[in-house]
Amino acid sequence: MKAVFFQQHGGLDVLQYGEYPTPKPATGEVLVRVKAAALNRVDLWVRNGWPGLKLSLPHIPGADGAGIIEALGEGVSSVSEGTPVVINPNIGCGRCAECLAGQDNRCRNWHLLGETISGTYAEYVVVPERNVLPLPQSFSMVEAAAAALVFQTAWHSLITRGQLKAGESVLIVGASGGVNTASIQIAKLAGATVYVVGSCLEKLTLAKSLGADYVIDRSQEENWAKVVYQLTDRQGVDIVVDNVGTTFPMSFRAARKGGRILTVGNTGGPIFEIDNRFIFGKHLSVIGSTMSNQQDFRTVMSLVFEGKLKAVVDRVYPLQDARAAQERLEIGKQNGKIVLEIGEL
Ligand code: ZN
Repeated sequence: MKAVFFQQHGGLDVLQYGEYPTPKPATGEVLVRVKAAALNRVDLWVRNGWPGLKLSLPHIPGADGAGIIEALGEGVSSVSEGTPVVINPNIGCGRCAECLAGQDNRCRNWHLLGETISGTYAEYVVVPERNVLPLPQSFSMVEAAAAALVFQTAWHSLITRGQLKAGESVLIVGASGGVNTASIQIAKLAGATVYVVGSCLEKLTLAKSLGADYVIDRSQEENWAKVVYQLTDRQGVDIVVDNVGTTFPMSFRAARKGGRILTVGNTGGPIFEIDNRFIFGKHLSVIGSTMSNQQDFRTVMSLVFEGKLKAVVDRVYPLQDARAAQERLEIGKQNGKIVLEIGEL
């Protein structure tokens, strides 16, 4: 099969496009003919590598994908060949106590597709049968792939972990990334008032079009926490969605007393200083999570299928242009998801 892979960690130039052995589905697995694969920041981190990361090389990146079931491993009964599906990249073992309790994103032997196991930048990928969800007839493969990781992540964080309720206020730090554009839509659907701080007018215009009630341009308003305070009658917001990390000091200021800070990532870097006095003095809860469980995935994807939530697609590239696609993500020019198209759609 054709695939994009790397044989050593490094910059964009380690990505190669070429022939790669087609995988075979083992017991309980399905072989998916991938039609669309969406990019995520984790793809860049895996390509760059980090201390302690041990991959079997060459490695195919890519967490998100949608395609058609091509072949079934032994014992597979829930799907059949020819079914269009979206892939849930959150791979639990299906046997440990956490998986059996429906908390498969806390699995003791957890993997993210494309991170530690072979991913979706390829014509074919193998996943457990419980990790595919049938698509409605003629639902866009590009939109399905673009939605899977970010919508489940945002849903699990806001709804399951963050317990967002109608009438609450939510500040989202960042306007245009995949998780943030998903978070804006989910918070609006849940009945919240949504504030978004972003880096430029173009990205904030996108946030507005997704339903944001108030947008703050941080290129004009450096102290955006102060602006949030003024906009909320000096109360602060109930929830801050902060997946930047280095912005935690400002997020703590923007939260109300008893507020929740939700985080699923750190696009600004993993290590930063915080002032602990804000946490106890304002009774703040910092709530982290990664990905979602199977139930949340099905719930949020059914809302995507109904059109109540919609992935924002920035650009679509052919598979062989994965390098250009990753470059666009790396420099942060994208508004929404970057997607690779594989074969004829
Ligand atoms: Zn498990």
